[in-house]
Amino acid sequence: MDIFKFGGASIKNADGVRNVANIIRDYKKGNLLVVVSAMGKITNRLEDLNDAFLSQSEDTHNIFEEIKLFHFSIIEELFKGKPNPVFDDVANTFVEIEWLIEDEADENAEYIYDQIVSIGEVVSTKIIAAWLNETGSKTLWADARNYIQTDNTYKEGKVDWAKTNQTIQKDLVPLLADQIVVTQGFIGGTSENYTTTLGREGSDYSAAIFASCLDAAALTIWKDVPGVLNADPKWFDETEKIAQLSYHDAIELTYYGATVIHPKTIKPLQNKGIPLFVRSFIEPKGSGTAITKDNNPLPVPSFIFKVNQALVSIFPKDYSFIIEENLSNIFELFHKHKIKINTMLNSAISFSVSVDDHAGQIEKLINDLSGEFTVKYNKGLELVTIRYYNQQTIDRVTIDKDILLEVKSRHTCQMVMKNRYLT
Ligand code: ASP
Ligand code: MG
Repeated sequence: MDIFKFGGASIKNADGVRNVANIIRDYKKGNLLVVVSAMGKITNRLEDLNDAFLSQSEDTHNIFEEIKLFHFSIIEELFKGKPNPVFDDVANTFVEIEWLIEDEADENAEYIYDQIVSIGEVVSTKIIAAWLNETGSKTLWADARNYIQTDNTYKEGKVDWAKTNQTIQKDLVPLLADQIVVTQGFIGGTSENYTTTLGREGSDYSAAIFASCLDAAALTIWKDVPGVLNADPKWFDETEKIAQLSYHDAIELTYYGATVIHPKTIKPLQNKGIPLFVRSFIEPKGSGTAITKDNNPLPVPSFIFKVNQALVSIFPKDYSFIIEENLSNIFELFHKHKIKINTMLNSAISFSVSVDDHAGQIEKLINDLSGEFTVKYNKGLELVTIRYYNQQTIDRVTIDKDILLEVKSRHTCQMVMKNRYLT
């Protein structure tokens, strides 16, 4: 039993769907569960739809029509006018959202977000399953909301592992016996059958949950890159593919911001010793990257860049030490404002962190801190993390940069930097 996961970039148009179906068809090793995200950048558009609806903007209807049209033109291009139940099936899915957005937005905003944004995955999987059946691969569409059981923390459903495991064993295993099963990433269901989402980019995590509960032989995530690279090609001209990576390095790299796989993906796989392969859907014959329990250190230093960072420095007004007690108050406030700390350093009477600079969030945090603490901050910075650093790699990324904060452990160096020529 294997799991394949395909993200939005692999199915951004009809050619993408055909390509994904070919990759699935070439898999002849046994049972296969396919976990799929929404098509292209549809989740962003669904977020726009949600925002428009919540603010009762007159754009609501147009965005909705645009999203429908995007999907129907792909279905039409695939089926070329040939009747297929997928036309009605997808239309009916959209009707549910149509009803919702015709109403007043009087319910919990996060609940509404999940009901709207989740349909990207529902629709994409209906299209893929229909196309696989059409082209001769016996396929069942399965609703992930029946299997991935979560609490009702909308937008960030917490998985109930015991229930999820039990339902997958009981209800999904038999379905996989003689057919391919296609299901959704990113979405789950509560005990009252409401839809939840697991957090943006959460489909990799879904695939890992399925892999764990099914004791899969392996999970393969199909990407638009040849595998895990030692840097994002967006920032570096010369990148190298890493052939084999330990779970430990993979979890560190993704935690620090390597976007190739979602950071929550590794743990469930590591816990069961299930290998993760990252391969290219553009060149499916390529060997990709294997992430396994073999503990070989990374063959090359790896670089992770995060831009739009704010460095926030916090000083107790009464000159008390930064110790456990005030640190726990500070952490609680970060948690309350959902601000994730990317790196931190403390001294006797200061505590400095680098965080993503999301609109307005830091100001709210500073407001809450300002009773007891003096807060200074600096925006427009970058954070670079180098795993397996040496002086040469540090020199390479710090040209024309002022280093405002530096944190080093044995294998990892993080620097918060400011471009010297930007004011
Ligand atoms: N479609 C969702 C998103 O774009 C989940 C995913 O792609 O993993 O965030
Ligand atoms: Mg995605």
